[in-house]
Amino acid sequence: MIPMVDLKGELEILGDPIFKTMKEVLLSGEYILGEKGKELEEKIAQYTGASYGIGVGNGTDALYLALKALNIGQGDEVITTPFTFFATAEVIAGVGAKPVFVDIEEGTYNIDPTKIKEKITSNTKAIIVVHLYGQTAKMDEILEIAKEFDLKVIEDACQAIGTEYKGKRVGSFGNIGCFSFFPSKSLGAYGDAGMIVTNEKILYEKICMLRNHGSEMRYVHSMIGINSRLDEFQAAILLVKLKYLDIFLHKRSEIAKRYTNELNKKLKKPPIFCDRTHTFHQYCIEYAKRDELALFLKQNGIASAIYYPIPLHLQQAFDYLNYKAGDFPVTEKAANNILALPIFPSMTFQAQDKIISTINRFVK
Ligand SMILES: *Cc1c(COP(=O)(O)O)cnc(C)c1O
Repeated sequence: MIPMVDLKGELEILGDPIFKTMKEVLLSGEYILGEKGKELEEKIAQYTGASYGIGVGNGTDALYLALKALNIGQGDEVITTPFTFFATAEVIAGVGAKPVFVDIEEGTYNIDPTKIKEKITSNTKAIIVVHLYGQTAKMDEILEIAKEFDLKVIEDACQAIGTEYKGKRVGSFGNIGCFSFFPSKSLGAYGDAGMIVTNEKILYEKICMLRNHGSEMRYVHSMIGINSRLDEFQAAILLVKLKYLDIFLHKRSEIAKRYTNELNKKLKKPPIFCDRTHTFHQYCIEYAKRDELALFLKQNGIASAIYYPIPLHLQQAFDYLNYKAGDFPVTEKAANNILALPIFPSMTFQAQDKIISTINRFVK
C-alpha cells in the first residue's frame, strides 16, 4: 500500500541524529520547558521571521491561547473559514465566543476576502485566517480589512510552515501565528507539539504565562491559564527535523509539480500564484467522481483522503449556530469533490508513477 504519509520512512535519513538527541534529553534530567524547548522557540521565531516563539502542547492549544491572550471571549465574534480542520473553530467556541463563517475562494480553498466585510458586526473582534494545505490566504486584503475595522488577526498556519507570501514566511503577518507539529504535519514531532509566534512583546509575555497556569513565578498565579507546555523530547526531535525542513518542502513541491504536469487535465489541480509559494502539506485534486476514484485507488493499493468531508457549518457540534446546507456553496462543492493524494518527502519516483498511471487509467 502506498500511504498518505510515511513517517517511519523519514527515520532512514534522520534516525541517527534523532536517537542521539533523544538519549541526550533522557540523560539531561530536564523534560519540560528546558533548553531544547528554548532553542526551538528561538529557531522557529527566526525561521518564520517573528520576534518571539512560545512552545505549547499542540496546534489547538496554540489557537486557544492566541484567543485568550487577545482577551476574546463571551459576547465576541470571530470570523473564520468553514473549510478547515475542526480545531480552528472549536477554540472560538471554547473561549466562549461565536464562530462566524465566511465562504472560501475557488482553487485556494482559503477564506474569500471579498465576503468578509458583510459578516462584520460591532461584536467582531478577530479573524482566524487558515493557510489550508500549505497555500496562503490573501493576506494583504485581509490585513487591510482588519485595519479598517480594528480587528485582530490570528494565522492558523498549522499546515503551512515555510510558505511564503510576497517574500515573507507565514506566521507573523497578523498579531499571532499558530503552528502544529502533529506527526503528519510538514514539520512533525513524534507526539503532540505546537508553537505560537508573535512580534508583540506584551502578547509574548502573556502567552508564556497562560500556557503555564497563568504563572510567571512558581505558585504565584496572576491569571487563569492552562497547562500546555512543550516537552523536551519533542523539541529535540523538531530541532533535528527543522534542519531538513526546506529540503523536505522542496521535495514536496517537486512531487506536486509532477502531479500537476502528468495527471489528466480533467482533474482540477491546485493553482500556483507568482506572489506566493505553496508548500503542499496536502496535494488535493477536485473531481466529480471523487468517491469512485478513491475506491479505485484503494483497490490498486494506493491511499487517498478527504480533507474535509463535512464543512464546519454543517457539523452537529455547531447546530446551535443555525447554518444550513447551501449557505457556503464554494465550501460545499469543495467538500464534495476534493481528494488528497499521497505526498511525503521520501516518496519514490516509482511510487508516484504508479499513482499517476492508476489515476489516469480511471479518469479518461
Ligand atoms: C492540525 C491542525 C490544527 C490542530 O493542530 P493539533 O496539533 O492537532 O492540535 C489546527 N488547525 C489546522 C488547520 C490543522 O491542520
